Amino acid sequence: MKKPKLFNLLGTFAATFAYEYNPGNSDYRPENWAQMDSPNNIQCDWANQSPIDLQTQFVLIQSRANSLSITNLRTMPENVVLTNVGHGAEISFEFANNDNMVVTGGPLNDQFIVAQAQWHWGTADCAGSEHMLNSQRYSAEVHIVTYNSKYASLEDAADKYDGLAVLGFLYEVDEAANSDFPQSVQTSLGGITFGCDSTTVSPFPLIDLFRTEFFDYIAYSGSLTTPPCYQTVQWMVSTKPLKIWSSDLDALRSINDVNGSPLLRNFRPCQNSYSRALNGYYL
Ligand SMILES: [Zn+2]
Repeated sequence: MKKPKLFNLLGTFAATFAYEYNPGNSDYRPENWAQMDSPNNIQCDWANQSPIDLQTQFVLIQSRANSLSITNLRTMPENVVLTNVGHGAEISFEFANNDNMVVTGGPLNDQFIVAQAQWHWGTADCAGSEHMLNSQRYSAEVHIVTYNSKYASLEDAADKYDGLAVLGFLYEVDEAANSDFPQSVQTSLGGITFGCDSTTVSPFPLIDLFRTEFFDYIAYSGSLTTPPCYQTVQWMVSTKPLKIWSSDLDALRSINDVNGSPLLRNFRPCQNSYSRALNGYYL
């Protein structure tokens, strides 16, 4: 058995976890994450894990008074950096004067700073999202990872009960529509073939990832979808899928994992929701 190299969580989180998504005979596949040797408190078999299958019939509609707001959503960053983190592709945004994008409102009681965005995809075009919506899996999913501003960094916040909030958007393949996957990222994926490769891409504002800040979403309490699966994430998953092209998914699959093999899939299977509260923030 080939051992994957140790790799960082969330790109910037300096934990040492070897894991992979290979559904075959591997000690590191998602079903075995809870049993992995770990120096830290691994929570992958706890009760409030992510992703889950979001069943809209169980959603409790919340007041629309406190809508989600994101600062600098349309501000052009100075730099957008795309990195192969060994189990996925992730981007970060850098602004002049170390400015940030700050998310407030909706289910959030605090201010959350956008740290990075990352994609999940699958071997087949039809199945690559982490969350499911009414038992349907979508083609891919993007996560905009934020951390509570009362903590110093994403790394510092990751294991705090109120540390993280993640915006999730599903994609469905639609060759007839314009792709919502940023084409500057698509064309740059060839520059991050191997783990730890990094490149700058033509800058674009965060809004380009999901087109509009006015979207319906389901909020629930869950976890990181990668080890150590900390149950510290306020999830907000949009119920309206974005569009993606098959060629975008091919480009994502062309990057290599920590073993140097093509990263054909990087979604975690759905976890038991145990009837968790689903709150609908609908327009
Ligand atoms: Zn993710």
